[in-house]
Amino acid sequence: MDTPITDTIFARIVRGEIPAQIVYETDSVLAFHDIAPQAPVHVVVIPKTPVRDLVEASPDAEMLGQLLAACAEVARITGIGASGFRVVVNTGQDGGQTVGYLHAHVLGGRALSWPPG
Ligand code: 5GP
Repeated sequence: MDTPITDTIFARIVRGEIPAQIVYETDSVLAFHDIAPQAPVHVVVIPKTPVRDLVEASPDAEMLGQLLAACAEVARITGIGASGFRVVVNTGQDGGQTVGYLHAHVLGGRALSWPPG
């Protein structure tokens, strides 16, 4: 989490320096399969403009709306939209955020338990 944001894995994926399996892309967001999937469908959705986390992003409601809409589009594209899915934004240390670049997880393809650990 101390990594400068422009050096994070997700910033490098946006710049095309690290390959990713792209699922969906717009001018403002990029969605790609998680490298260590926790469900049959596990896609990471990020803004193309680097921002650290949900708190830092909170003034930009337009971008956050686009991010959330992209999650729904990813669910539709991957075929989990009808059966149901989960969107998770891990934030900060206690939230389990390991990459210091805002991202939403779209998880589905199986029944997900609640509450999370
Ligand atoms: P966090 O724990 O920060 O909420 O989620 C970070 C996610 O990024 C993890 O689910 C992890 O598997 C994923 N991840 C880490 N490195 C890479 C990578 O190089 N490529 C892809 N596609 N996902 C990654």
